[in-house]
Parts: sequence; structure tokens; C-alpha cells
Amino acid sequence: MTAVDTAPGGVWDQVVGQPGVVAELRAAVTHPAAMTHAWLFTGPPGSGRSVAARAFAAALQCPAGGDGTCHACRTALAGTHADVKLIVPDGLSIGAKEAREIVTGASRAPSQGRWQIIVVEDADRMTEHAANAVLKMIEEPPPRTVVMLCVPSLHPDDVMVTIRSRCRLVSLRTPPADAIADVLVRRDGVDPAMAAWSAAASGGHVGRARRLARDEEARMSRKAVLDVPLRLVSLAACLDAADDLVGAAKEEADEASAALDGAETEAVKASLGVGARGPGVAAASRGAGQLKELEKRQKSRATRLGRDSLDRALVDLAGLYRDALVLDAAPGAALQLNHPDRRADAEELGRRIGADGALRRIDAILACRVALEQNVKPQVALEALTVALRLPA
Ligand SMILES: [Zn+2]
Repeated sequence: MTAVDTAPGGVWDQVVGQPGVVAELRAAVTHPAAMTHAWLFTGPPGSGRSVAARAFAAALQCPAGGDGTCHACRTALAGTHADVKLIVPDGLSIGAKEAREIVTGASRAPSQGRWQIIVVEDADRMTEHAANAVLKMIEEPPPRTVVMLCVPSLHPDDVMVTIRSRCRLVSLRTPPADAIADVLVRRDGVDPAMAAWSAAASGGHVGRARRLARDEEARMSRKAVLDVPLRLVSLAACLDAADDLVGAAKEEADEASAALDGAETEAVKASLGVGARGPGVAAASRGAGQLKELEKRQKSRATRLGRDSLDRALVDLAGLYRDALVLDAAPGAALQLNHPDRRADAEELGRRIGADGALRRIDAILACRVALEQNVKPQVALEALTVALRLPA
């Protein structure tokens, strides 16, 4: 066996804990017969769908099949390669404008690379209009064009059946904690003990693990969320906890938005020459339109960031109740817990609410996630939830 067989290296180092997927994609890069023009990357959040798609795009453009060091590899991974178009929705949906970008991008011949590649991250956010544009392109693909769509699941809500049936499927799994810890140490230089802890606490989400390892605030906000279940001893405590959860999510989203918004607004103003002397009346009104458009996009993104942040808290909470459930069912067994560092809390919860109580609370959390998805006001949804999570007297 050569070293290449055991460790592909290069761009594939980015794809954490997915040996089967890497082998499949490498085969498509090396053997033209294994290549196809439409790919669908699916897997749970944090499993690295778009990372795998980018690595694949880099390997396809790289003269050496993805060494990770040449210009083609580096620009493809960074999203600046002329023949790798990344569609990354920052709002709630991928609409007509992005759909046009996808289609015009695909119809161009590769300018320098070997392929014209379009990667659509969060393709589940395509509007019907955008999905139809993509479908049409997949049905009659322009030569040398490769489309990679990334979706969280194969549910018809996430991807049209007609699109799915025309794509080659790449299924990522939740990466194991030791693979995540390994990449944190190797790539990000995290201390091994911290890497092991954050990998175990991340629920198999590579990006989350990296944040937990590097960011004290991320660790504090996870702690605040996991402290909630044992706090819920009275109605007042429930309402307080709802306030805290909504407030923390809003604060996190506001911070993330502010960081993104300011730079974007400045960039648009600069490109319009706002502040410079003597722009024509037409230019000024065009500029106002562009700024308005930008504000709309930023608002949509802020809403999504807030939702994502609340949803992450809810997933963490559900994980703790699941731990309580399994510990109550099989005390003392060597179990794979969602929050191994909070085992004592999960055991106490199990004692106080029992398996039935844990199940009911997991259902309540699911219902709350659905309500938020359907635009119920966060404060209302979270108050209903924390009241349902209240501990028995
Ligand atoms: Zn390369």
C-alpha cells in the first residue's frame, strides 16, 4: 500500500471523517468515466457538505488532482477561482437573481480551468423559480459544466425529486469525534485536550467544534443553554429562561450581522462614489436603489442568523434531554452522550422527570423548532416551550 492510499492529503484533508466520500470523489477526478455533471451532496448540519463540494471542485481544476498547494486549489477552496462559482445564500432563500447567476455561469466555457463548476450551498433554500432554472440546466447540461448542490437531507421539502433523480448522490455522515479532534489539532493548532473536549461537545458539527475550541464566549453560551433545564422550577423561572434564550440568540445574531453589514454598506457606497463630488442625478437614484436592495438582503440575513442561533440552542437542549432519557433507561452503561461533560445534570434530570417526561420534553422542543420555522414570534414560542419543560414540583 502506498502512502497515497492511506492518506489522500491535499485538498481532501479538509473533508473530515468521510473516507468513503473521499474515495468516491477521488475516483471521479482520476477516472473520467466515473465523472458526471450533476452532484448532490447531502448530510447533517456540520458534516461538511459544502467543504466536500469545494474540495472536489479544487481537485477537478487542479493539474495534480488536488494537491492543495497550487493556485487552482487555493483559489477554488477560497471561492475566488474564475471557473468555480459559489452560490452562498446569505438570506432566507435563493431567488431569481442567484438563479440567473447559476445559469449564466454554467453556460460560459471554462476560462482557464478544466471545468466550469457551480457549487450551490444550501440548495434547499432555492425558490421554485431558482430550482426550475437549475433543473433545466441539469437536463441539458452545457459541455464541461459541473453542478454541485448541497442540501441537508433528501426530503422533498429540501430538494425537488426531479432534481434529485438527475444527480449523483454523495452522502456525508456525522463525522466521529476523534476525526474532528484530530483536524482541530492538525489544522487549527488547538491544544489536544481542548480539541477532544470541544469535538465531544459539538454533536459532530465540525464548525461548531472549532468555535467551541477557540471562543470562550461560545463555550459560555453553550453552558447557559445547558443550565436551563434544571433552572425551571417555577413559572417565573420558565419565563426568565425564555427571555434569556431569546435575548442571547438576538445578541449573537446582532453581533454577526453588524460585523457583516457595515463592511458591505461601505463597499456599496464606495463603488457608487457616494460622498464624492458631483454624481449625476441618475447615478444618485441608482445608488439609493442599490442601497435599499442591500438593506433588504441584510434584514433577511439577520432574521436567518437569529433563527439559526435559536435553533442551535434548541438542538443542544434536546440533546441533554436525550442524554437523560438514555441514562434513565440504561444507568451505568457506557453510552455515547450528546453532552458527555454534563452527564451529572442529565442523570439528575432523568431522576426527576423519568423517561416519559424526557420524551415529552423532546417532543415539545421539536414542536418549538417547527413553530419558529413557521414564523411564530420567538418570544411566544420559547415561553410556550419553557413552560412545557418545567420540572415537576
Ligand atoms: Zn492543486
